[in-house]
Amino acid sequence: MSAKQPLQVTAIPAFADNYLWLIHDGQHAAVVDPGDAAPVEAALAALNLTLDAILLTHHHADHAGGVTALLSQRKIPVYGPASERIAGVSMPVSEGQTVPLPTLGLSLSVLDVPGHTAGHIAYVAEQQRWLFCGDTLFAGGCGRLFEGTPAQMTASLQKFAVLPDDTAVYCAHEYTVSNLRFAVAAEPGNALLAQRLEHAQQRRARGESTVPSDIGTEKLTNPFLRYREPAVVATLKAEGRLDRDDPVAAFAALREWKNSFR
Ligand SMILES: [Zn+2]
Repeated sequence: MSAKQPLQVTAIPAFADNYLWLIHDGQHAAVVDPGDAAPVEAALAALNLTLDAILLTHHHADHAGGVTALLSQRKIPVYGPASERIAGVSMPVSEGQTVPLPTLGLSLSVLDVPGHTAGHIAYVAEQQRWLFCGDTLFAGGCGRLFEGTPAQMTASLQKFAVLPDDTAVYCAHEYTVSNLRFAVAAEPGNALLAQRLEHAQQRRARGESTVPSDIGTEKLTNPFLRYREPAVVATLKAEGRLDRDDPVAAFAALREWKNSFR
């Protein structure tokens, strides 16, 4: 067995733009949203880790598709949203519950964050300041509303906005540059945002990841956390996408605009 290391989070790239997150200490590991088993098995073998738990944020195949294959090689608990039916989930959880990972000396708390899907959950490691938010919050953006309402999504995102600013945002996709291009259109006067887009483009040009982000950066630059800002509201009105002062309507207008933004 390899040497024990400080607890850390490692990205496992999968499909075109997914990140599967491996939490490990050099010996034991838990994986968040294994949409595909093969890259997880490869990472476990390369790092000489024993997989002790699987955590799922929602039912989409690019997040849960690898569970059955991972379970065929081992008998471990699979945590997932209590209100979604996902093959392999043995430990359904919802807000207020915690996920104990004893071999890692780690405990994660669960948040209900409906919007992208009806039962979507997120996991927070309070002490480590880690947020595993699936497809709810992205660097510079948020997930599409496939099953939930704008009101639900704003309430879900607010649960993230109140986390400490230095909380790392481990989102599940590399969508940052396209998200930030839209963000600049929504808030063209935000200098920090323009700078963030430039940095993200430079990182991608070098083949580097732009995640994790952090809550403080998102609060300053992500339009889906800034729909109450006068500048964002003014853009929506100027674009003819909003005709009243209503934060949820502003959020909905932003989300609809992003869906067709090129
Ligand atoms: Zn999804």
